[in-house]
Amino acid sequence: MFCRVYSGVCMGIEGRMVRVEADVSNGLPAFCVIGEVSGEVRESGGRIRTGIKNSGFSLPPKRYLINLAPADFRKAGTGFDLPAAVAILCCIEQISPELLDNSIFIGELSLNGSLIPVKGILPVVSKAAKEGFKYCFVPWGNAQEAAAVSEIEVYAAKTLNEVVAHLQGKSKLPRTSLEVRRRIKDRDGFLDFGDIRGQAAAKRCIQIAVAGWHHLLMIGPPGSGKTMLAERVPYIMPELTWEECLDITKIYSSAGRIEPGGGIITRRPFRRPHHSISDKALIGGGSVPVPGEMSLAHGGVLFLDEFAEFSRNVMEALRQPLEMGEVFIHRVRGNYRFPARPLVLAAMNSCRCGYYPDRGMCRCTPGQIQAYMGRISGPVLERIDMCIHVQRVGYEHMRASEAIIDSGEMEKGIKRARECQKRRFSEENISYNSEMDSRMIQRYCSLYKESESFYEQIYERFHLSARTFQKILKVARTISDLEGSEQVGVAHLAEAVSYRLPDETYGGEGWQ
Ligand SMILES: [Zn+2]
Repeated sequence: MFCRVYSGVCMGIEGRMVRVEADVSNGLPAFCVIGEVSGEVRESGGRIRTGIKNSGFSLPPKRYLINLAPADFRKAGTGFDLPAAVAILCCIEQISPELLDNSIFIGELSLNGSLIPVKGILPVVSKAAKEGFKYCFVPWGNAQEAAAVSEIEVYAAKTLNEVVAHLQGKSKLPRTSLEVRRRIKDRDGFLDFGDIRGQAAAKRCIQIAVAGWHHLLMIGPPGSGKTMLAERVPYIMPELTWEECLDITKIYSSAGRIEPGGGIITRRPFRRPHHSISDKALIGGGSVPVPGEMSLAHGGVLFLDEFAEFSRNVMEALRQPLEMGEVFIHRVRGNYRFPARPLVLAAMNSCRCGYYPDRGMCRCTPGQIQAYMGRISGPVLERIDMCIHVQRVGYEHMRASEAIIDSGEMEKGIKRARECQKRRFSEENISYNSEMDSRMIQRYCSLYKESESFYEQIYERFHLSARTFQKILKVARTISDLEGSEQVGVAHLAEAVSYRLPDETYGGEGWQ
């Protein structure tokens, strides 16, 4: 007796459909799982058999063969337990095969017959909906994640028995509906820039970085508030669209980082990996690749504190995702792709002791100061558009009753700049000024006549390299967008020049 049930597996953040075939035949009693499966799937036989038995079904002593098809890619994970159990129960005529063709089943079976949530549900269910499946059966803990796909009917069960009773028509499971409170506007735990006194220059720079998605390097002594500034950035970013929420949730789902019972992620992530992190943990990896911090921060902020302390190979690993906005991991049995487009905020001290240029406190030699900055990989610096020196807040700011710039104020300009960019790039495949290539810079960064001659002077005076030349234009474009200005003016250019990186002037002049 043969039976086929559909399931799926998540590879990268894409779902792939898998046919789970069961065959029960006479012969020496045995239980095998085959079809290019990983060790954990091969081991699942004992679990499936015991789970079925403890759900109250008796399995006749026969040969049970489970095949996962197609065999052209490696199947890992524990989500095939439920479809395999359903296929076997269908073979021994406990379930009629009629409903099975339009349904997919995913879930891990525990020895007592209850269902355990698995990772990677959202990508698989989205794929199933695209392929035209009508019904989807998942463990209770995965219900909300699956229900985000509105084109498919989701049924969540706590035990194998509940699934079987539903398929037998004895007691129907209720259809799961999405309870996601669109918490995008929810201000729980909201961190406001208004909590930080002074730092007007740093706040301005952050506003520009967010508006045009420009990666930013903050240099300053310990205790100058770089971390406080970074933590507040996700809250001034534009609200996530529903598609962006789904993309971020898929990444977390494939990493197995959604809490059981958790649903769609509606907030921009803030990730802060420690500088001792490995390259695999930062960009993703493993024998069955899972996303790294770079992808977990997709759409949000990746804060790299103590930037100079990250090891060389970790910094080199950043290069490709910063360039592509994606991480590709190649394995013999399949290629994996993870989106990785966070806003990178890097922070570092200006020298080993941290107090340069305060010569009263810093005891480093000029050579040591140069060497400290030299730790940052050149190709990574190339991808960072802006740099700001964050100073310790002076006494006069701590005490004065001067107006404090808060998040609400910063958001206003950002919204205006986002609107400008949306209009500008409606026919391009990019969304932010920082993503412009040379052709687009030529086309969209038109300068006023006086700006043109001003920029020529700057270019000659500072011996700008070609890439610095372009970066400054992109940042200036964002600054003019914050004002809603059509063209780039002298003031915009002058401000953008002040954010160039320390190594970007001839002979490290700006650094010394
Ligand atoms: Zn020093």
